[in-house]
Amino acid sequence: MDTSKPAEHFDVLIVGAGLSGIGAGYHLQQKCPDKRFVILEGRDCIGGTWDLFRYPGIRSDSDMFTLGYSFKPWTDPKAIADGPSILNYVRETAAENGIDKKIRYRHQVKRASWSTQDARWTIEAERSSGEGASDVVRFTCNFLLSCSGYYRYTDGYRPEFAGDSDFKGQIVHPQKWPQSLDYAGKRVVVIGSGATAVTLVPAMAEKASHVTMLQRSPSYVVARPAQDQLAITLRRKFGDKVAYHVIRWRNVLLGMFFFQFARKRPERFKRMVLGGVRMALGPDYDIAHFNPRYNPWDQRLCLVPDGDLFKSLREKRASMVTGEIDRFTDGGIRLKDGSELKADIIVTATGLVLQLMGGVEVSVDGSKVDLAKTMNYKGMMYSDIPNLVSVFGYTNASWTLKCDLTCEYVCRLLNYMDQQGYRQCMPHNIDPTIEQLPALEFSSGYVQRALPTLPKQGSKRPWRLYQNYAFDIVALRLGKVDDGVMKYS
Ligand SMILES: Cc1cc2nc3c(=O)[nH]c(=O)nc-3n(C[C@H](O)[C@H](O)[C@H](O)COP(=O)(O)OP(=O)(O)OC[C@H]3O[C@@H](n4cnc5c(N)ncnc54)[C@H](O)[C@@H]3O)c2cc1C
Repeated sequence: MDTSKPAEHFDVLIVGAGLSGIGAGYHLQQKCPDKRFVILEGRDCIGGTWDLFRYPGIRSDSDMFTLGYSFKPWTDPKAIADGPSILNYVRETAAENGIDKKIRYRHQVKRASWSTQDARWTIEAERSSGEGASDVVRFTCNFLLSCSGYYRYTDGYRPEFAGDSDFKGQIVHPQKWPQSLDYAGKRVVVIGSGATAVTLVPAMAEKASHVTMLQRSPSYVVARPAQDQLAITLRRKFGDKVAYHVIRWRNVLLGMFFFQFARKRPERFKRMVLGGVRMALGPDYDIAHFNPRYNPWDQRLCLVPDGDLFKSLREKRASMVTGEIDRFTDGGIRLKDGSELKADIIVTATGLVLQLMGGVEVSVDGSKVDLAKTMNYKGMMYSDIPNLVSVFGYTNASWTLKCDLTCEYVCRLLNYMDQQGYRQCMPHNIDPTIEQLPALEFSSGYVQRALPTLPKQGSKRPWRLYQNYAFDIVALRLGKVDDGVMKYS
């Protein structure tokens, strides 16, 4: 590390130039125009998720009226949008607002160390040349804003399968999709039951000879029109901005209504979802493949635009198998019931590895912080860690809804601290009646695997995560920043 040069200093340092990092840059520019900020991005481009994932059919699984930013209307007719269109939207936002000029690419942040005496973070990043060489550079900042997403970028989750080296075909993980993969006319087995699997199956079925979706257990799958007709009509009559905000609010309210309905009346909601599947697939189809053991919203629902998955099942270009894998064989996969699925290509759509803060090692005054021992404040800060916010989206609604609110809150916090002459803010719990609860109430594999490493949530506000946009508007946009829990100095 070159320590001869003084570290460059910024008021705010943002980690990550994905959807959140670009949104954070916009909010800072608008509401804290005097703050000098920089964005450190580990990769060599903008976009994060929407650039990384390149598998066939890659798309959003929530609507773009709520996944889009509050400040930039989504104008594409497709409400469930493909990955490249979302990437283009993020890039356009960055370019239109000059945020792209604030990004330092190929800067992978490794360490963040807080000094109370200096009221500053020192950030160490590995800067790579793109040709194999790298060095370590240092920055300092007063406030650290982590927009590094929620999963590990280097590799996805791939369980061990017995006999996988025996398989003579190709094994592919969606997080590292080989662009040269030719699956035309091939037999494909997609292992998985989540959003990625239900996206891949109809997309690959267009060219493959057959695609089998192999799941250990089913998920709830709901069809939804890819285009929003009301949005198109409103746009024509009232323009992009009005249409965007009306549809955004309609979708937020509908989303909250259906979520509450699912939690309060799980059996009725389940019947409704299964009724939709029955209608799409006909009376003879075995809908056990769509009947999970868990209640709706114990895991995320899978959305299929225009029922594309159902269409490929009806046309027999794809099929569903629910069963447990015994082992891979040279020609495919043997299941525990003794049956065998023949395959030329196996896609392991087995998920992500959840990772907080992009793997950055955090220390406060020389002591390394174990985030699992902290408590999450308002779904964005950690107990006893000063001047650090992590942007994290909802589990039951679009990510950007929370991202926008979090960034607005950070701006309020920074402006408040400036007005009062404070240099440090830190959430600290003094209420002994607060119980610690798991970070997320979600039974999905990727959440369960990560729970021991995640910060806890508390049993009461402001430590409790309600996953509710309306509550958060009140708490983050209107609530006091000096709430007695945040300690300023
Ligand atoms: C396939 C897929 C589909 C999804 N669909 C939806 C959807 O429809 N609706 C929804 O609400 N959510 C969806 N999500 C969740 C999605 O990740 C978010 O919606 C959103 O893209 C998150 O944006 P982000 O900028 O916070 O994180 P990311 O998109 O993950 O971007 C993080 C950025 O930070 C950089 N970074 C990370 N660590 C470091 C570090 N240490 N140093 C420097 N840079 C770092 C990364 O390189 C990346 O560029 C989806 C996720 C996936 C994987």
